[in-house]
Amino acid sequence: MNPSPAIQGGLFFLTCGRLRAPAWTICPGARGVVDMPLTVGVMPRGDGRYVLVDCGFASAEMARPVSRFGPPGFFFRFRADGDAPGPPRTIAAQLVERGIEPRDVVQIVATHLHLDHVGGFVEFPNAEVLATPPEIEAVSRRGALDGYFHGRALRESGRLVPLELRGGERHGFPAHLDLGGDGRVVVLDAAGHTAGSVAVLLTDGLRSVLHAGDAAYHPIEYREGRQSALSRFTAFRRDWLEATWGRLRAAETDAGLDVLLAHDPQGYERVTRGTAPAHAGPASRSPG
Ligand SMILES: [Zn+2]
Repeated sequence: MNPSPAIQGGLFFLTCGRLRAPAWTICPGARGVVDMPLTVGVMPRGDGRYVLVDCGFASAEMARPVSRFGPPGFFFRFRADGDAPGPPRTIAAQLVERGIEPRDVVQIVATHLHLDHVGGFVEFPNAEVLATPPEIEAVSRRGALDGYFHGRALRESGRLVPLELRGGERHGFPAHLDLGGDGRVVVLDAAGHTAGSVAVLLTDGLRSVLHAGDAAYHPIEYREGRQSALSRFTAFRRDWLEATWGRLRAAETDAGLDVLLAHDPQGYERVTRGTAPAHAGPASRSPG
């Protein structure tokens, strides 16, 4: 079981259910199936307010994905998280169980605006949704078959805010923004999976975790430069993605940062249970 991180006031992570997929889709050469998390970072600001990195799906989307998304919804069959009995729950519902009110979430930093990372924003009425201008452009023009869905809802909410990475190089990434100016939430340019993808370095004084969204689906991609089938299918620009992989590799190997991928089950285990970093040993080829 997780300790009570909300009470400790530290960074913690949740998943909005799991999605089962053939393991080879996210890890070259893997067999069997993988129950992918949709990992969301929760960072207390210290003033009773919270910042999220991504926010998973909304409850209506989890209950009826096909009627919400059309054919792409057939890919989304939600399963409960391993620890949690009963049906899979949204991030908002899990925060309420921990005594955190959704209205106290004031910022959602979107690693990108694909539908599995932002749909839950409707359940956080006071949260700005921060995304880079290329993501805002993409979500406005592209549809569910390109992975985007919430453009209209985000626009009509009036809460979609451009995230300008005005700072220069940081941690080897070409541009950054220190969101609160205190180093707790540092947004880094990690384009490639989409035109405006970011990685977010979360630091609470006890640990630092680099949430890299979908820059890779499995560590083998950035560690060994072996692209998964799903990444091949979704990548916006392979050359940008490879540059981002090199930066993730350096962040992990040279800077010792804990790189977390949104859909990697072993990464989720590591950041929620404090198990040994995966890069301490040989790269696994059998996720799940
Ligand atoms: Zn994703």
